[in-house]
Amino acid sequence: MFLGLLKLFAGSHHRRFLRQCAPLVRKIHAHQKAYGALTDDQLRAKTTEFRARVAKGETLDALLPEAFATVREAARRLCGTQVEVCGHQLTWNMVHFDVQLIGGMALHRRKIAEMATGEGKTLVATLPLYLNALSGRNCQLVTVNDYLARRDSEWMGHLFRWLGLTVGCIQNSMSPAERRAAYGCDITYATASELGFDYLRDNGMAFSAEEQVQREHFFCIVDEVDSILVDEARTPLIISGPVAEEREPAFPRLRPDVARLIDHQVRLINRLASEAEAALAALAPGAEPTDETIDKLWLAKHGMPRSRTLLRLMENGRWRKALERREGVLASDLEKDRRYKLKEQLYFAVSERHHEADLTQLGRDTLRPGEPDAFVLPDLASAFVALDADPALSPQQRAERKQAAEAGYIKASEDIHAIGQLLRAYSLYERDVHYVVQDQKVLIVDEHTGRILPGRRWSDGLHQAVECKEGVPLERETKTYATITIQNYFRLYEKLSGMTGTAETEAAEFHDIYGLGVVAIPTHRPCIRVDENDIVFKTRREKYAHAIKLIQESHAKGQPVLVGTASVESSETLSRMLGLARIPHKVLNAKQHALEADIVALAGQRGAVTIATNMAGRGTDIKLGEGVAELGGLFVLGTERHESRRVDRQLRGRCSRQGDPGRSRFLVSLEDDLMRLFANAGTISNLLEKSFKEGDPLEHPLLNWSITTAQKRVEAQNYTIRKRLLQYYDVLNRQREVVYAIRNGAIRSEDPRPVLMELIAEEIADRVAAVFPDPRGPGLRESAEGLVAWATGAFPVRLTPDEVLALGADKAAAELSGRVARLHAEREEYEDRDGLRALERQVALRAVDRNWQDHLTEMEDLRRSVGLRGYAQKDPLNEYKTEAFRPPQRVQDGGVPRLQRPARPHPRRRLLGPVPHGDLHGGLRGDHAPRPRPGRRHRPRGPRRRARLQAGGARGEAPADPTRDAQDRPQRRRPHPQG
Ligand code: ADP
Ligand code: MG
Repeated sequence: MFLGLLKLFAGSHHRRFLRQCAPLVRKIHAHQKAYGALTDDQLRAKTTEFRARVAKGETLDALLPEAFATVREAARRLCGTQVEVCGHQLTWNMVHFDVQLIGGMALHRRKIAEMATGEGKTLVATLPLYLNALSGRNCQLVTVNDYLARRDSEWMGHLFRWLGLTVGCIQNSMSPAERRAAYGCDITYATASELGFDYLRDNGMAFSAEEQVQREHFFCIVDEVDSILVDEARTPLIISGPVAEEREPAFPRLRPDVARLIDHQVRLINRLASEAEAALAALAPGAEPTDETIDKLWLAKHGMPRSRTLLRLMENGRWRKALERREGVLASDLEKDRRYKLKEQLYFAVSERHHEADLTQLGRDTLRPGEPDAFVLPDLASAFVALDADPALSPQQRAERKQAAEAGYIKASEDIHAIGQLLRAYSLYERDVHYVVQDQKVLIVDEHTGRILPGRRWSDGLHQAVECKEGVPLERETKTYATITIQNYFRLYEKLSGMTGTAETEAAEFHDIYGLGVVAIPTHRPCIRVDENDIVFKTRREKYAHAIKLIQESHAKGQPVLVGTASVESSETLSRMLGLARIPHKVLNAKQHALEADIVALAGQRGAVTIATNMAGRGTDIKLGEGVAELGGLFVLGTERHESRRVDRQLRGRCSRQGDPGRSRFLVSLEDDLMRLFANAGTISNLLEKSFKEGDPLEHPLLNWSITTAQKRVEAQNYTIRKRLLQYYDVLNRQREVVYAIRNGAIRSEDPRPVLMELIAEEIADRVAAVFPDPRGPGLRESAEGLVAWATGAFPVRLTPDEVLALGADKAAAELSGRVARLHAEREEYEDRDGLRALERQVALRAVDRNWQDHLTEMEDLRRSVGLRGYAQKDPLNEYKTEAFRPPQRVQDGGVPRLQRPARPHPRRRLLGPVPHGDLHGGLRGDHAPRPRPGRRHRPRGPRRRARLQAGGARGEAPADPTRDAQDRPQRRRPHPQG
């Protein structure tokens, strides 16, 4: 049978993999046959035996056939036994199929196993989990929600426990102690965000090794891997808390100006659109509209894409086509001037597709009449050079002027940013579509499910901009204590693999970003699902009406229907319409995982009608009820094409599991966002004009093609965004690794003193180097004074500037370090050693944390400011990297400061703050280090670290700041877990 499947199977690289697996499958069967003679206890003893062999150096690869055979034999012996899963009694009745053995091999070999829904991926994972757990290290399985983590750990736990392994699962409500216990097991089931947040708390928050819960990042299988590594990849996990000091946000001050600008634009577009409408109405039959008329539509589209008049006119295929043709012409380089002139009639130009809004010259002049430079960032570097070259200034005056220049710069950049965000808030974010206002709060609406996302905020000031637009109180911005993206979290693992029903369309991404190959594993039984052509309607209303008709037809026969929707809003519309048609049905929208799993499980029963959004019930198996197969099985009806083909495939895959019959069909309307924004309108308009009569549905292979092309286009765009985002986060990622390593060094080391001493020596070397720009040459007196003042204040070590200058670079550094070491040794004589050590640890951790948090904030600022530099024809990503790794320079050193916050005191200086006497047992009370002043930022640095950070910079090219939207929907948590 296995070879038969092999032949059926197409893709050659898949075939090669399957061919490699074939002998292993035979070996597994041979071993299992032999194990048949063992008693239960003897079979269980295999686990101990394997562990010992691994400990002696045998590789997991070599053990694979025996280990898999053991698991399979155990599963066979368990058949007929009872297991309690989430409160239900289940009878174990599964023995791994051959294709499941192959899936298990793929997972062990760091691949993504594409296995259709219902193929039993939960069981597949037991094989590689068992094998890898033999190493004694923590193996993890990631599920899409807490309910599935619990279900699968209890279900598969039956098998693992029988074999002598421990299994745990992490639930959102668990205490640190419970989490620790779960990670202590051989195998741990958990969701991606629980894992990520535990990582952040362990590395960014814990003050001792006892507080850390995770053991390691060894082997991890991600279930429904596309949903987690692709859909959720852009979601940063953020632990945040309130900001201590904050500057007044610029929004309220700028709002009246922007509102006025919006008014101008609305009036302009209304006028243009009405003029165009009148001109089109007056057109003689068959006559072509003039360019001038179409340009007005073009302006409306780029000025107010959601203008009612425009949308109404676009329902007419002819005008739609004419505008698209014009758009094509204007996009060409030849017409650059014309396009520019048109744009300059607007106050600002909106790109709905890219979620951007840019001021035009007209807009700038309207906002700040007579101030042509209002939106130009001052050139801070040149200003500083000029000040340094001015002999008439005293050092004091020079510093003051520099500070004034800096303040001016910061204000200008903040204003530009704030205006940009306000424009986006006004022109792209619609109330009751993108957000709702409740109790004086702006609440985000999830674009995928339509649910309100309480507590989530758009980042980068956008949320405050929307609050300002709505006239509700601006909520305080929070400060990031720790953050990581899902992408980067999963890149921590030594061995990563995944499984899902739909990975092939994203294979390139899995490969490029995670180094994971995709193998499509054949189904256990051939799939006989019938996928019908899409039907296209002109309007959403007609589409829904047709959906109800199709549901009615199936329902009348008793055939169950699963209706897929793209949002809660359309779920509700359909539910209302079904209610009117008196068709009993159930609605799911991914709110209550456990309850929904129970409902979805029944979606295959005779006569069932179930409406579900994309994610609802994912991971739950839909079995057919009695007699349903004869009616054609489950009918899956998609009421909208999703942006990505993968999600559509996922929906289709809900039916025809394990060789069941079933069919699927998608309905599409030209009003759907996908069609409106991305479809190749030329083709559609053509078809529309030729064959559309009012209310006529359209079914044509060309349309399927056109829709797929639209989807590919969005997929490509989204992939670019994710990839680019990764490049941005790579920078932070490398820095995080270094900082967390230092932090963990301080937590875990017996004696944190060497860490501190090393930091001190590094700091001294840095400062001495500033005194002697040329190590052989003479020193700078001004800097020497600064060095001495610092040394006296921090340790205290007394040395005069003259002494420093006389000693020269190398000797001065050695002298200072030596004196500090002696001082410390003296202190140790009369202090309690353990107490001192605990204190040193605390000081080190707090200093690292505070500086790292400031650094995170600073990196956010930086990302924002490089976004602005896109205007200067520079690649923001390159700029970002250059700036991110540039050490801060002190103003008095005569260096050119970093763009945003020059003259930061050295972060580690505060490691060296005065040690309080006689307060050792109470630990540190409050902060002994000076608080950073508002507006000043500090960042970790040091030559060695810099070198490490710089090794391995990436490259990038496109202009635009993809992280802007990407950060829009972060998952936030408070610093401490529940309870
Ligand atoms: P997937 O995650 O691939 O969609 P599940 O792991 O939820 O699939 O399993 C789907 C169904 O198939 C479950 O009801 C499970 O009991 C059943 N199943 C899986 N593997 C086997 C097997 N080897 N023998 C019998 N039933 C199986
Ligand atoms: Mg599953």
